[in-house]
Formats: sequence, C-alpha cells, structure tokens
Amino acid sequence: MKDMFDLNNLVRENIKKLVPYSSARDEFSGDAKVFLDANENSLGSPLPKWYNRYPDPHQQKVKEAISKIKGVPAEHIFLGNGSDECIDLLFRSFCNPGKDNVVICPPTYGMYEVSANINDVEVRKALLTDDFQLDLIHLENLIDANTKIAWICSPNNPTGNSLNRNDIEMLSNNFDGLVVIDEAYINFSKQRSFVQELTEYPNLVVMQTFSKAWGLAALRLGMAFASTEIINILNKVKPPYNINQATQELALKAMEEVAQVNDMIHHLVDMRDALSEVFEQIPTVEKVYPSDANFILVKIKDARKLYVFLLTKGIVVRDRSNVKLCDDCLRITIGTEEENTALVDAIQEWLS
Ligand SMILES: *Cc1c(COP(=O)(O)O)cnc(C)c1O
Repeated sequence: MKDMFDLNNLVRENIKKLVPYSSARDEFSGDAKVFLDANENSLGSPLPKWYNRYPDPHQQKVKEAISKIKGVPAEHIFLGNGSDECIDLLFRSFCNPGKDNVVICPPTYGMYEVSANINDVEVRKALLTDDFQLDLIHLENLIDANTKIAWICSPNNPTGNSLNRNDIEMLSNNFDGLVVIDEAYINFSKQRSFVQELTEYPNLVVMQTFSKAWGLAALRLGMAFASTEIINILNKVKPPYNINQATQELALKAMEEVAQVNDMIHHLVDMRDALSEVFEQIPTVEKVYPSDANFILVKIKDARKLYVFLLTKGIVVRDRSNVKLCDDCLRITIGTEEENTALVDAIQEWLS
C-alpha cells in the first residue's frame, strides 16, 4: 500500500490551487537599512523591548534549533500556535467538509474530534481495546476511500500508556491516508519517537509540543514533523505570522537549557512512579494504569465524589469517570513534591 501512497490524492483541490498570501517579509527578505514595506510603526512600541516589526514568518532560527535537538532537518519541521493549530491545519488542508472522514481511537485527546466538528468532517471511532491498545481490525473496517487521516495519540491522553509500535507501523503501512502520531508526552516515555521514521513512511506526521516536558504551555508552540511535501502544504495554509516574536525568542532561549529540561523530566518521571506506588496502597484504588506520561490514570471507588471532595481542598484533578473505558477514573497530573503530598494527604483524609 505504501507504494500506492500519493499525497496528491489527499490534498483538497482548493488547497492544491491555493496561491498563498505573500507577506512583505516574503517579498523582500534580504538586508536593508530602511524598512518601509510592511506598515509597521517605525517609531517603536511602548514596551522596553521593541516589538514593532513582524516576526519571521518561517521561524527559521527556531526550526534550526529544533533540528539540532531532534535530529530532523529544518525543512521537515512545521511550527503551529500550539499543536492545536497543527491539528486544525491538517483538517483544513486534507479533509473536504461534508465529504471526507477521519478515524480516531477513543478514549483519546478531545481536540481531534472538536477540530473535525468545526471543519464539518465526519469522525469514525475505533475504541481502544481493554488494555488501551489499537483495535486494528476495527480501525481498518472503518477506513474507506474518503478516510484522510488516522489520529493516533501515543503516549495516549488520558490513559497514559504508549501504543504498540508494531500496530502503528502496521497501520502506517496499510493505510494510504495520513497517519498522525501525537507525541505530546513522548519525553516522559521509554518508547522511541517516530520522528526518525519519516523517510520510512511518506504518510506519517509526528506532532510534538513545547507545552508539556518543556514547561512552556503559555507560549503556544507546537511542532509537526513530516515529509517536505506535507510541510509545504501546511506552510501554504497557515496564517503568515502564526508564531509571534516573543514566542520565537523565548523558545530559542529555552532550547539553550536542554539539560535543565531533562532534569525536570527525570524528576517528574520519578515522582510519577513514586505516586503510582502510593496509589497502589490506597484501599479504594482499583487500578493504577501504567503511565508513560506526566500524569496517571487511576480507577477508584466513588471517583466523582472524591473529585468533588478534592475540590473542597483546593485540589483540581481531571474527572474522566464519564469517559468510555475510563469509568471511575481520575486523571492526575504530577505536581511538585509538595502538591503530590497534599493530594495524598487529602485522599487519606477522605478515606478516614
Ligand atoms: C497537551 C496536549 C497537546 C498540546 O497541545 P498544545 O496546543 O501544543 O498545547 C497535544 N496533544 C495532546 C494529546 C495533549 O495532551
């Protein structure tokens, strides 16, 4: 099937024909002394640092820094205003409203379905198996000629586990639409990222983000790694200046501190494993699901009531007890040492 993969069959006709917006920075990108081409405020801005100029629409420096860290050439990198923008752009580039469909594997990240609904794209669901793995047979039964994207989240939110690599490879080999692997939590996982497999699978898109391990959720910076053909399409469709100047500067600064980020990741993983063990000892806990992420999914008696009790203690966790396959489950983000202790103390108080 891979030999039959043809990106041209996937891209919407209007996007193929689209002449992208050409910004002032596109039309002149050389060195000059006087820039009078973009109607910026030439006098400056009220901020101590001047933000009066439009940012680099192609985020070249940021991509080069990411390229060094990830070992992926810059032309295989797309940057979005959060992964959420990457998700939306994939829908808008490849899925014809009212005609095409995508497959998702619940329980999973909610934005795939929301973004599909916004774009009027049908969502077909192949529930994960009881051990939260892909149900490949069901998935393949859902796929038809109008299926453009299979959304895979690994490590998966809210279950926390990684999906079997063989299953993802099997799907990528046998599906001639796009396989998007959302690796938002990959830094907390023992599993290898799929970013090194882009040459192997022309239909692969790998998404990562600065929002989780990097601790930069406020900056809104998401990454998509894919073939240059796919990246070029996303570049054509994106708003010209989708990554603002402050975000570009701060992301560059953050990427000078990889060691510090790795320390945080190790610390979070240690606390995750320790907290999992503490939960195992709590009598009303029915199951602590194994996690490759910075959160754990816990099946617990009276989950909803505990959720409400924790709120009275000023502690907010995510109530997933109404989600299919997650009944009686709370999703708990790993906090600081103090926050994790406060959580456990509150649960002990609830039990007594
Ligand atoms: C948190 C999260 C993201 C991050 O989205 P951003 O828009 O980059 O903040 C993406 N995917 C999943 C599964 C997540 O849980």
